[in-house]
Amino acid sequence: MVDLWFSEYHTEDVRFSIKVEPLWSEQTKFQRIDFFRNATFGTFFTLDGFLMMTEKDEFIYHEMICHPAFATNPEIQRVLIIGGGDGGTAREVARYPTVQQIDQVEIDERVVRLCQQYLPQTASVFENEPRLKLHFVDGVEFVKNTPEGTYDLILVDSTDPIGPGEGLFTLEFYRNCYRALTPNGSLINQHESPYYPGDAREMKRAHQKIKATFPIARVYQVFKPTYPSGLRLFGFAAKTLDPVTDFKPELWQQFKLITRYYNTDIHTASFALPTYVQEMLTEDA
Ligand code: SAM
Repeated sequence: MVDLWFSEYHTEDVRFSIKVEPLWSEQTKFQRIDFFRNATFGTFFTLDGFLMMTEKDEFIYHEMICHPAFATNPEIQRVLIIGGGDGGTAREVARYPTVQQIDQVEIDERVVRLCQQYLPQTASVFENEPRLKLHFVDGVEFVKNTPEGTYDLILVDSTDPIGPGEGLFTLEFYRNCYRALTPNGSLINQHESPYYPGDAREMKRAHQKIKATFPIARVYQVFKPTYPSGLRLFGFAAKTLDPVTDFKPELWQQFKLITRYYNTDIHTASFALPTYVQEMLTEDA
């Protein structure tokens, strides 16, 4: 019996490997998509060799990209999700009855169709959520053409700043997001990871541009086993509402959502960052 392993390289000499049963592979015009199954993490998929989400630990990332924003501004009604083709972020947003409109802008339709087939736990939202509208276009262009003050929340659930995701980490993109947001609006982005040099460089670059664009630019952390070093960051940028000083735990609790990672204690704790990360966020990239 031959064991097959998927490896993601975090540096030249450090990799994360898990034993797999291959399920599907294809090359789209944007990226290579691979689906695998692993006994511990269940079904998962990769894009261009980078692990995106697994059945078993996706709840961590999808709860944490979404709920801190709603606990800071419980009146969010119009949401834009950029990327997020697996549906996990949309699934969490759709849990709020106060949300009236979800625009999801995913550049690669094949990611959505394959996740509907192999990962219904996240992608079934695309079949059963009437408030959600899918747009198979580039998020950079979509935001450029979005009228001022359209959204209360923009969630950038993107790949890394290589390939199609590169444009989602530019000053122009952040400025267009700023314009597209309402006065109480906020932008949450996957903010890479502070540990390995390549990820840390991208995190610093993105943070500098966001800080130059938004008056409030905080970073919070989450621990997810299948991400490089297990430590992942999110950026929380806003025009007026600060996720720590304007946090409204009682109002969030009135939504009575059952979550497995997010809670109002971890909300506050996640914005407390290790010293080395704090220092990185003040350094030039
Ligand atoms: N939500 C997952 C997780 O738990 O980490 C991973 C992120 S999701 C799969 C990343 C998505 O961003 C991919 O489906 C990719 O096609 C999409 N994407 C990359 N660049 C994009 C762009 N410029 N506009 C819209 N979507 C983009």
